[in-house]
Amino acid sequence: MGQLRMTQLIDSFGRVHRDLRVSLTDRCSLRCTYCMPHDFNTWLPSQDLLTSDELIMVIDVATENGITEVRLTGGEPLLRPDIVEIIGRIKTLPNAPELSLTTNGLQLTRYAKAMFDAGLTRVNVSLDTLRAETFVKMTYRDRIADVFNGLDAAKAAGLAPIKINTVLMRGLNDKEAPALLEWALREGFYLRFIEQMPLDAGGIWNRSTMVTSDEIQASLQPFYSLTAIGARGSAPAEEFLINGGPHKVGIIASVSQPFCGACDRLRLTSDGQIRSCLFSKDETDLRKILRDPSHSTASLRVEIAKRFSHTVAAKLAGHGINDPAFIQPPRPMSAIGG
Ligand code: SAM
Ligand code: SF4
Repeated sequence: MGQLRMTQLIDSFGRVHRDLRVSLTDRCSLRCTYCMPHDFNTWLPSQDLLTSDELIMVIDVATENGITEVRLTGGEPLLRPDIVEIIGRIKTLPNAPELSLTTNGLQLTRYAKAMFDAGLTRVNVSLDTLRAETFVKMTYRDRIADVFNGLDAAKAAGLAPIKINTVLMRGLNDKEAPALLEWALREGFYLRFIEQMPLDAGGIWNRSTMVTSDEIQASLQPFYSLTAIGARGSAPAEEFLINGGPHKVGIIASVSQPFCGACDRLRLTSDGQIRSCLFSKDETDLRKILRDPSHSTASLRVEIAKRFSHTVAAKLAGHGINDPAFIQPPRPMSAIGG
């Protein structure tokens, strides 16, 4: 039974923040070109990553202050050897949040069942192509078979729904949208296309080559009739009924149709920084206070709560990708936590 939540995290535009994306590590087993440079190797020192005790303390305080949904992400969250323990501890918090996890799927054969047993019920798996050669071109690793095996393991473990995240890149996989949707429908997965955002830290993002939501819809329409469902609330994906329903496809059009006005998300980086937006220029440090021995548990909890509310209070109206003065964040997506 959850405790009564007394507080909410409300910003100066009246947006109530309920969703916390928690990055468990900046490291990854793939090198998706839209996420990080393929030769990227400036990882955080392992002592800078929050420990499971520190993570649980932060999530406990966040859920006491209005966070109701937690998504574990990275980097690749299944590279954390304590992933199952972290899930189990989150699910037994007094205000246990809705919990989900986004993974590249490579290690689901190893962890899907244990994570389900620890209390995870659903999962998002990122897959951009059904073709082995394209997978190698997009991720610099020859591991598509591990993703398919991982998806089978997720199904067998009972994780549901299984959502698939797909980023389309022009000249690589942009012609695959109908085939990916046909595959997802056949497998019983919910497919969501994500517009490529300027988060690769290497400057490969280019507005003129980015595949837009309009183009994705146009490429699906010869094969499927799409009916916009509307009223997406704070959910990032615009949803469409396929051939009148009941199955759906989603498109997350963060660049061409920003949804900042309804944003309810905060992020915790793996080194303990709170960000109010993927594109924030500022971060609020929790790691330093978490490791300050002069704090009692009670004073630490007060400080963490204060830092969450100050970060939310300072949140800007929008991500500003479409402003002429926009500058890409220096950290890649893998380091911020997607
Ligand atoms: N490694 C895990 C994975 O790939 O699912 C979790 C972390 S990853 C950063 C989370 C999501 O962000 C993935 O679905 C990925 O496709 C997406 N992503 C990464 N870089 C992106 C970018 N530049 N634009 C849009 N989506 C991006
Ligand atoms: Fe790794 Fe996920 Fe980024 Fe791909 S999108 S490089 S799998 S963190």
